[in-house]
This record gives sequence, C-alpha cells and structure tokens, in this order.
Amino acid sequence: MLLEEITSSDEELISMARDIIKRNYDHKKFNHTVGCALRCKSGKVYLGINVYSLYGACAETVAISNAIMNGESEFDCIVAIGGDRSDIVYSPCGNCRQMLSDYSPNCNVIISTENGPKKIRAKNLIPFAYLTPMD
Ligand SMILES: [Zn+2]
Repeated sequence: MLLEEITSSDEELISMARDIIKRNYDHKKFNHTVGCALRCKSGKVYLGINVYSLYGACAETVAISNAIMNGESEFDCIVAIGGDRSDIVYSPCGNCRQMLSDYSPNCNVIISTENGPKKIRAKNLIPFAYLTPMD
C-alpha cells in the first residue's frame, strides 16, 4: 500500500499548520482559511497560509516558496489544515500535487483518509504527471 502511518513528529507538523491558520484565520476579507507546515530534510519547518484576492496561492505554495527562499531543496513532509472549526487535513489540490512532484517527488504528503490522516509520497499523488523541463 502506498499509504504510511503518521508519526509523532508528523503530529507536531499538523499542530504547527493548525496554529499558523488559527492565528491568521480570516474568512471575511482575505479568505485566509488554510495553513501549511513543510518540514525539510534539514529538520527546519516552514509555514504558509493561503492568500487570495482576485487570484491567489495555496498555503502549500507559500510554504514551499518560503522554504526555497531559505535555501531548502529537499522536502521531508508537508501538511495543510483547514482553519475553520473542523480542523481537517486538506489533501493538496492538483496544482500543488504537480508542484510537489516537480520539486520533491519523494516528499511525504499528509492527506485525509476515511481512517484518519496518512502519508503518501508526492509522486504517488499524481500518476502520469506532466513532466516539467526541470531535470
Ligand atoms: Zn493547492
């Protein structure tokens, strides 16, 4: 099976994503509704929240950008959390799946399943992906 169990450090990552959206939640003006935490192989964690105006960026995109700006290129695990009362893990959208597959195909992605949060490699979230000319 492609799914793996989450660990205690993954639970900490979930907490960090939850905390960043709780502190920045805004469903009325700017629609900041999702928080993301990205742990890199270095052990450092980078955070993001979604930003919207006419167009916008997902929380994952912002966290990935934050990591890259800090010299990171190898991602270990990423998770996005909805900031409303449900506190649910959000599986990444198609664009973020492509981005994670391009930047770090072996990155673990915490997704929501009927049996709770599980991990799956980014490359397995987007089979037959478009191959960007990055290699
Ligand atoms: Zn997305």
